[in-house]
Amino acid sequence: MPSDVLANVEARGLLLDLDEKGVRLFVRAGTLMTKAAARLTPDDRAAIRQHKPDLLVLVLICADATLDRLLALRAGTLGRERHERGCYLCGQPLPSDRPLGRCGWCALACRLHAGGPVPADLIALFPESIRGTTCPQLRPGRALPFDCAQPTLELQEA
Ligand SMILES: [Zn+2]
Repeated sequence: MPSDVLANVEARGLLLDLDEKGVRLFVRAGTLMTKAAARLTPDDRAAIRQHKPDLLVLVLICADATLDRLLALRAGTLGRERHERGCYLCGQPLPSDRPLGRCGWCALACRLHAGGPVPADLIALFPESIRGTTCPQLRPGRALPFDCAQPTLELQEA
């Protein structure tokens, strides 16, 4: 089991393959759900089961809540002021068992921003009721949304 969900190419490919079939996974109450379960083959179901811990976090990474924070971090607008309650970066309420710290969305965005690994156990930072949807609609290069949010290379003038 890879310790970095971003390095799990099978799980990433699976998300994209499912999206091509019109199957979007989302996270609810700590598990993966879809409204298009009838389109899942037995192989899809087996692959989802096999990669479930990494898929849970990958789906949350693809959610707008993470991407918005990633872009705000890059723009220097997230964390400019420290919130006294909830997540100290964005102010969102934290799960009742964690009075201090960052919310799961900010933790994911910070990891992506820093280029660090994203362990599957980051799921523990989210409350059980979390939701996230994937929207990997950017086809070229089969990239997931957070890949497309990476800064583009500046072309050097000759
Ligand atoms: Zn936050």
